[in-house]
Amino acid sequence: MKKIAVLGSTGSIGTQTLEVVRSLGMSVCALAAHSNIDLLEKQAREFKPQLVAAFDLHAAKDLRIRLKDTGIKVVQGMEGLCEAATIPQADLILNAVVGMVGLKPTLQAIAANKDVALANKETLVAGGQLVMDAVRQRRIQLIPVDSEHSAIFQCLQAADPKELNKILLTASGGPFFGKKAEELKNVTPQMALKHPNWKMGAKVTIDSATMMNKGLEMMEAGWLFHVPASMIEVVIHRESIVHSMVEFQDHAILAQMGVTDMRLPIQYALTYPKRVEGPVEELSLTDVGKLTFYPPDEKTFTCLHACKVAMDRGGLAPAAANGANEAAVSLFLQGKIGFLQIGELVTAALEEQKDVPSSTLDEILAADQAARQFVLEKAGQHF
Ligand code: NDP
Ligand code: MG
Repeated sequence: MKKIAVLGSTGSIGTQTLEVVRSLGMSVCALAAHSNIDLLEKQAREFKPQLVAAFDLHAAKDLRIRLKDTGIKVVQGMEGLCEAATIPQADLILNAVVGMVGLKPTLQAIAANKDVALANKETLVAGGQLVMDAVRQRRIQLIPVDSEHSAIFQCLQAADPKELNKILLTASGGPFFGKKAEELKNVTPQMALKHPNWKMGAKVTIDSATMMNKGLEMMEAGWLFHVPASMIEVVIHRESIVHSMVEFQDHAILAQMGVTDMRLPIQYALTYPKRVEGPVEELSLTDVGKLTFYPPDEKTFTCLHACKVAMDRGGLAPAAANGANEAAVSLFLQGKIGFLQIGELVTAALEEQKDVPSSTLDEILAADQAARQFVLEKAGQHF
């Protein structure tokens, strides 16, 4: 049985990962989160890892006192997160932190020869080239957790990836499917946080409402499966039963289906290449009855369009789009900007970013910071 470290263990993916870990009887050697020490303490007492990391310094200090009787080492900051990502006992690192903060620990985990199960899509969006180069160099397994990418990965097990014609990336369309910009002007965070099919963390839920999530996922798929934007077709599929599809050169299409439950792709990432019984329910296709598919509306959902542009441009453009989006989503959740401004700010930040031939980690981090700063300044004019 593999030993696992879970980064972002207190979040939506992190807690579902621990449910799967519990049902599989796997052992956990490290846990990491930002500051939710009530849950971190509970998880640490149940799973008895060697190490727990809290990114926030004050939270780590408190947690150290709380876990004194257990002998568990408590570490902090980015250094602590990276220590959890490289802990010698782990075979597999499941990275489910939210945002670009996951890039460094992913790179360090790979450098330490760990297999990585990746939910943290922002890592690949911003640092795809670095991550994929490191994966090739170290020959580790990078296993997708994102449901669409897990679906594509599963479909590709059945074939030679060279025979791939295109990827059909499904999207639920979020809570505002079918709406036009005029109708989205007054959307509040509360309205955008109501996803029709999935219960997820706040950031990815807003990304789903703006369709930035699908744009980020296009870039994620581009790196994972070595395909350009022109080989990825986004298809709106309201029922979220077909998790994505691949089309081969003979035009045969394979789909992976299942109930809308993230524990399925999480479990596959943990047991790959094996499949075992788990907590996920059976899908009854006759209960579902009907599966529908529509084209996306890029004119209204400008974030999706911006991501396609960023993907075609490559270099630092994806890091800029992602950084701008992280900053804009945070401002939207604080009630400081409107819903439509997220797309406007991502588009504007992308225009601001210059094209460069190569991108080092420092350049990526600088582009990310510059995009965030640009968004804060530009949005500040409207506060
Ligand atoms: P949540 O907001 O629910 O959880 C985020 C987790 O990351 C929490 O454990 C949080 O800790 C931790 N975290 C945040 N910042 C830091 C930091 N600086 N250092 C260490 N830990 C940190 O997010 P989700 O679980 O929804 O999403 C996680 C990732 O998975 C995202 O990239 C998302 O796009 C992706 N994803 C999510 C899906 C879902 O169904 N939720 C589906 C597919 C992909 P704390 O609780 O202490 O703040
Ligand atoms: Mg997804």
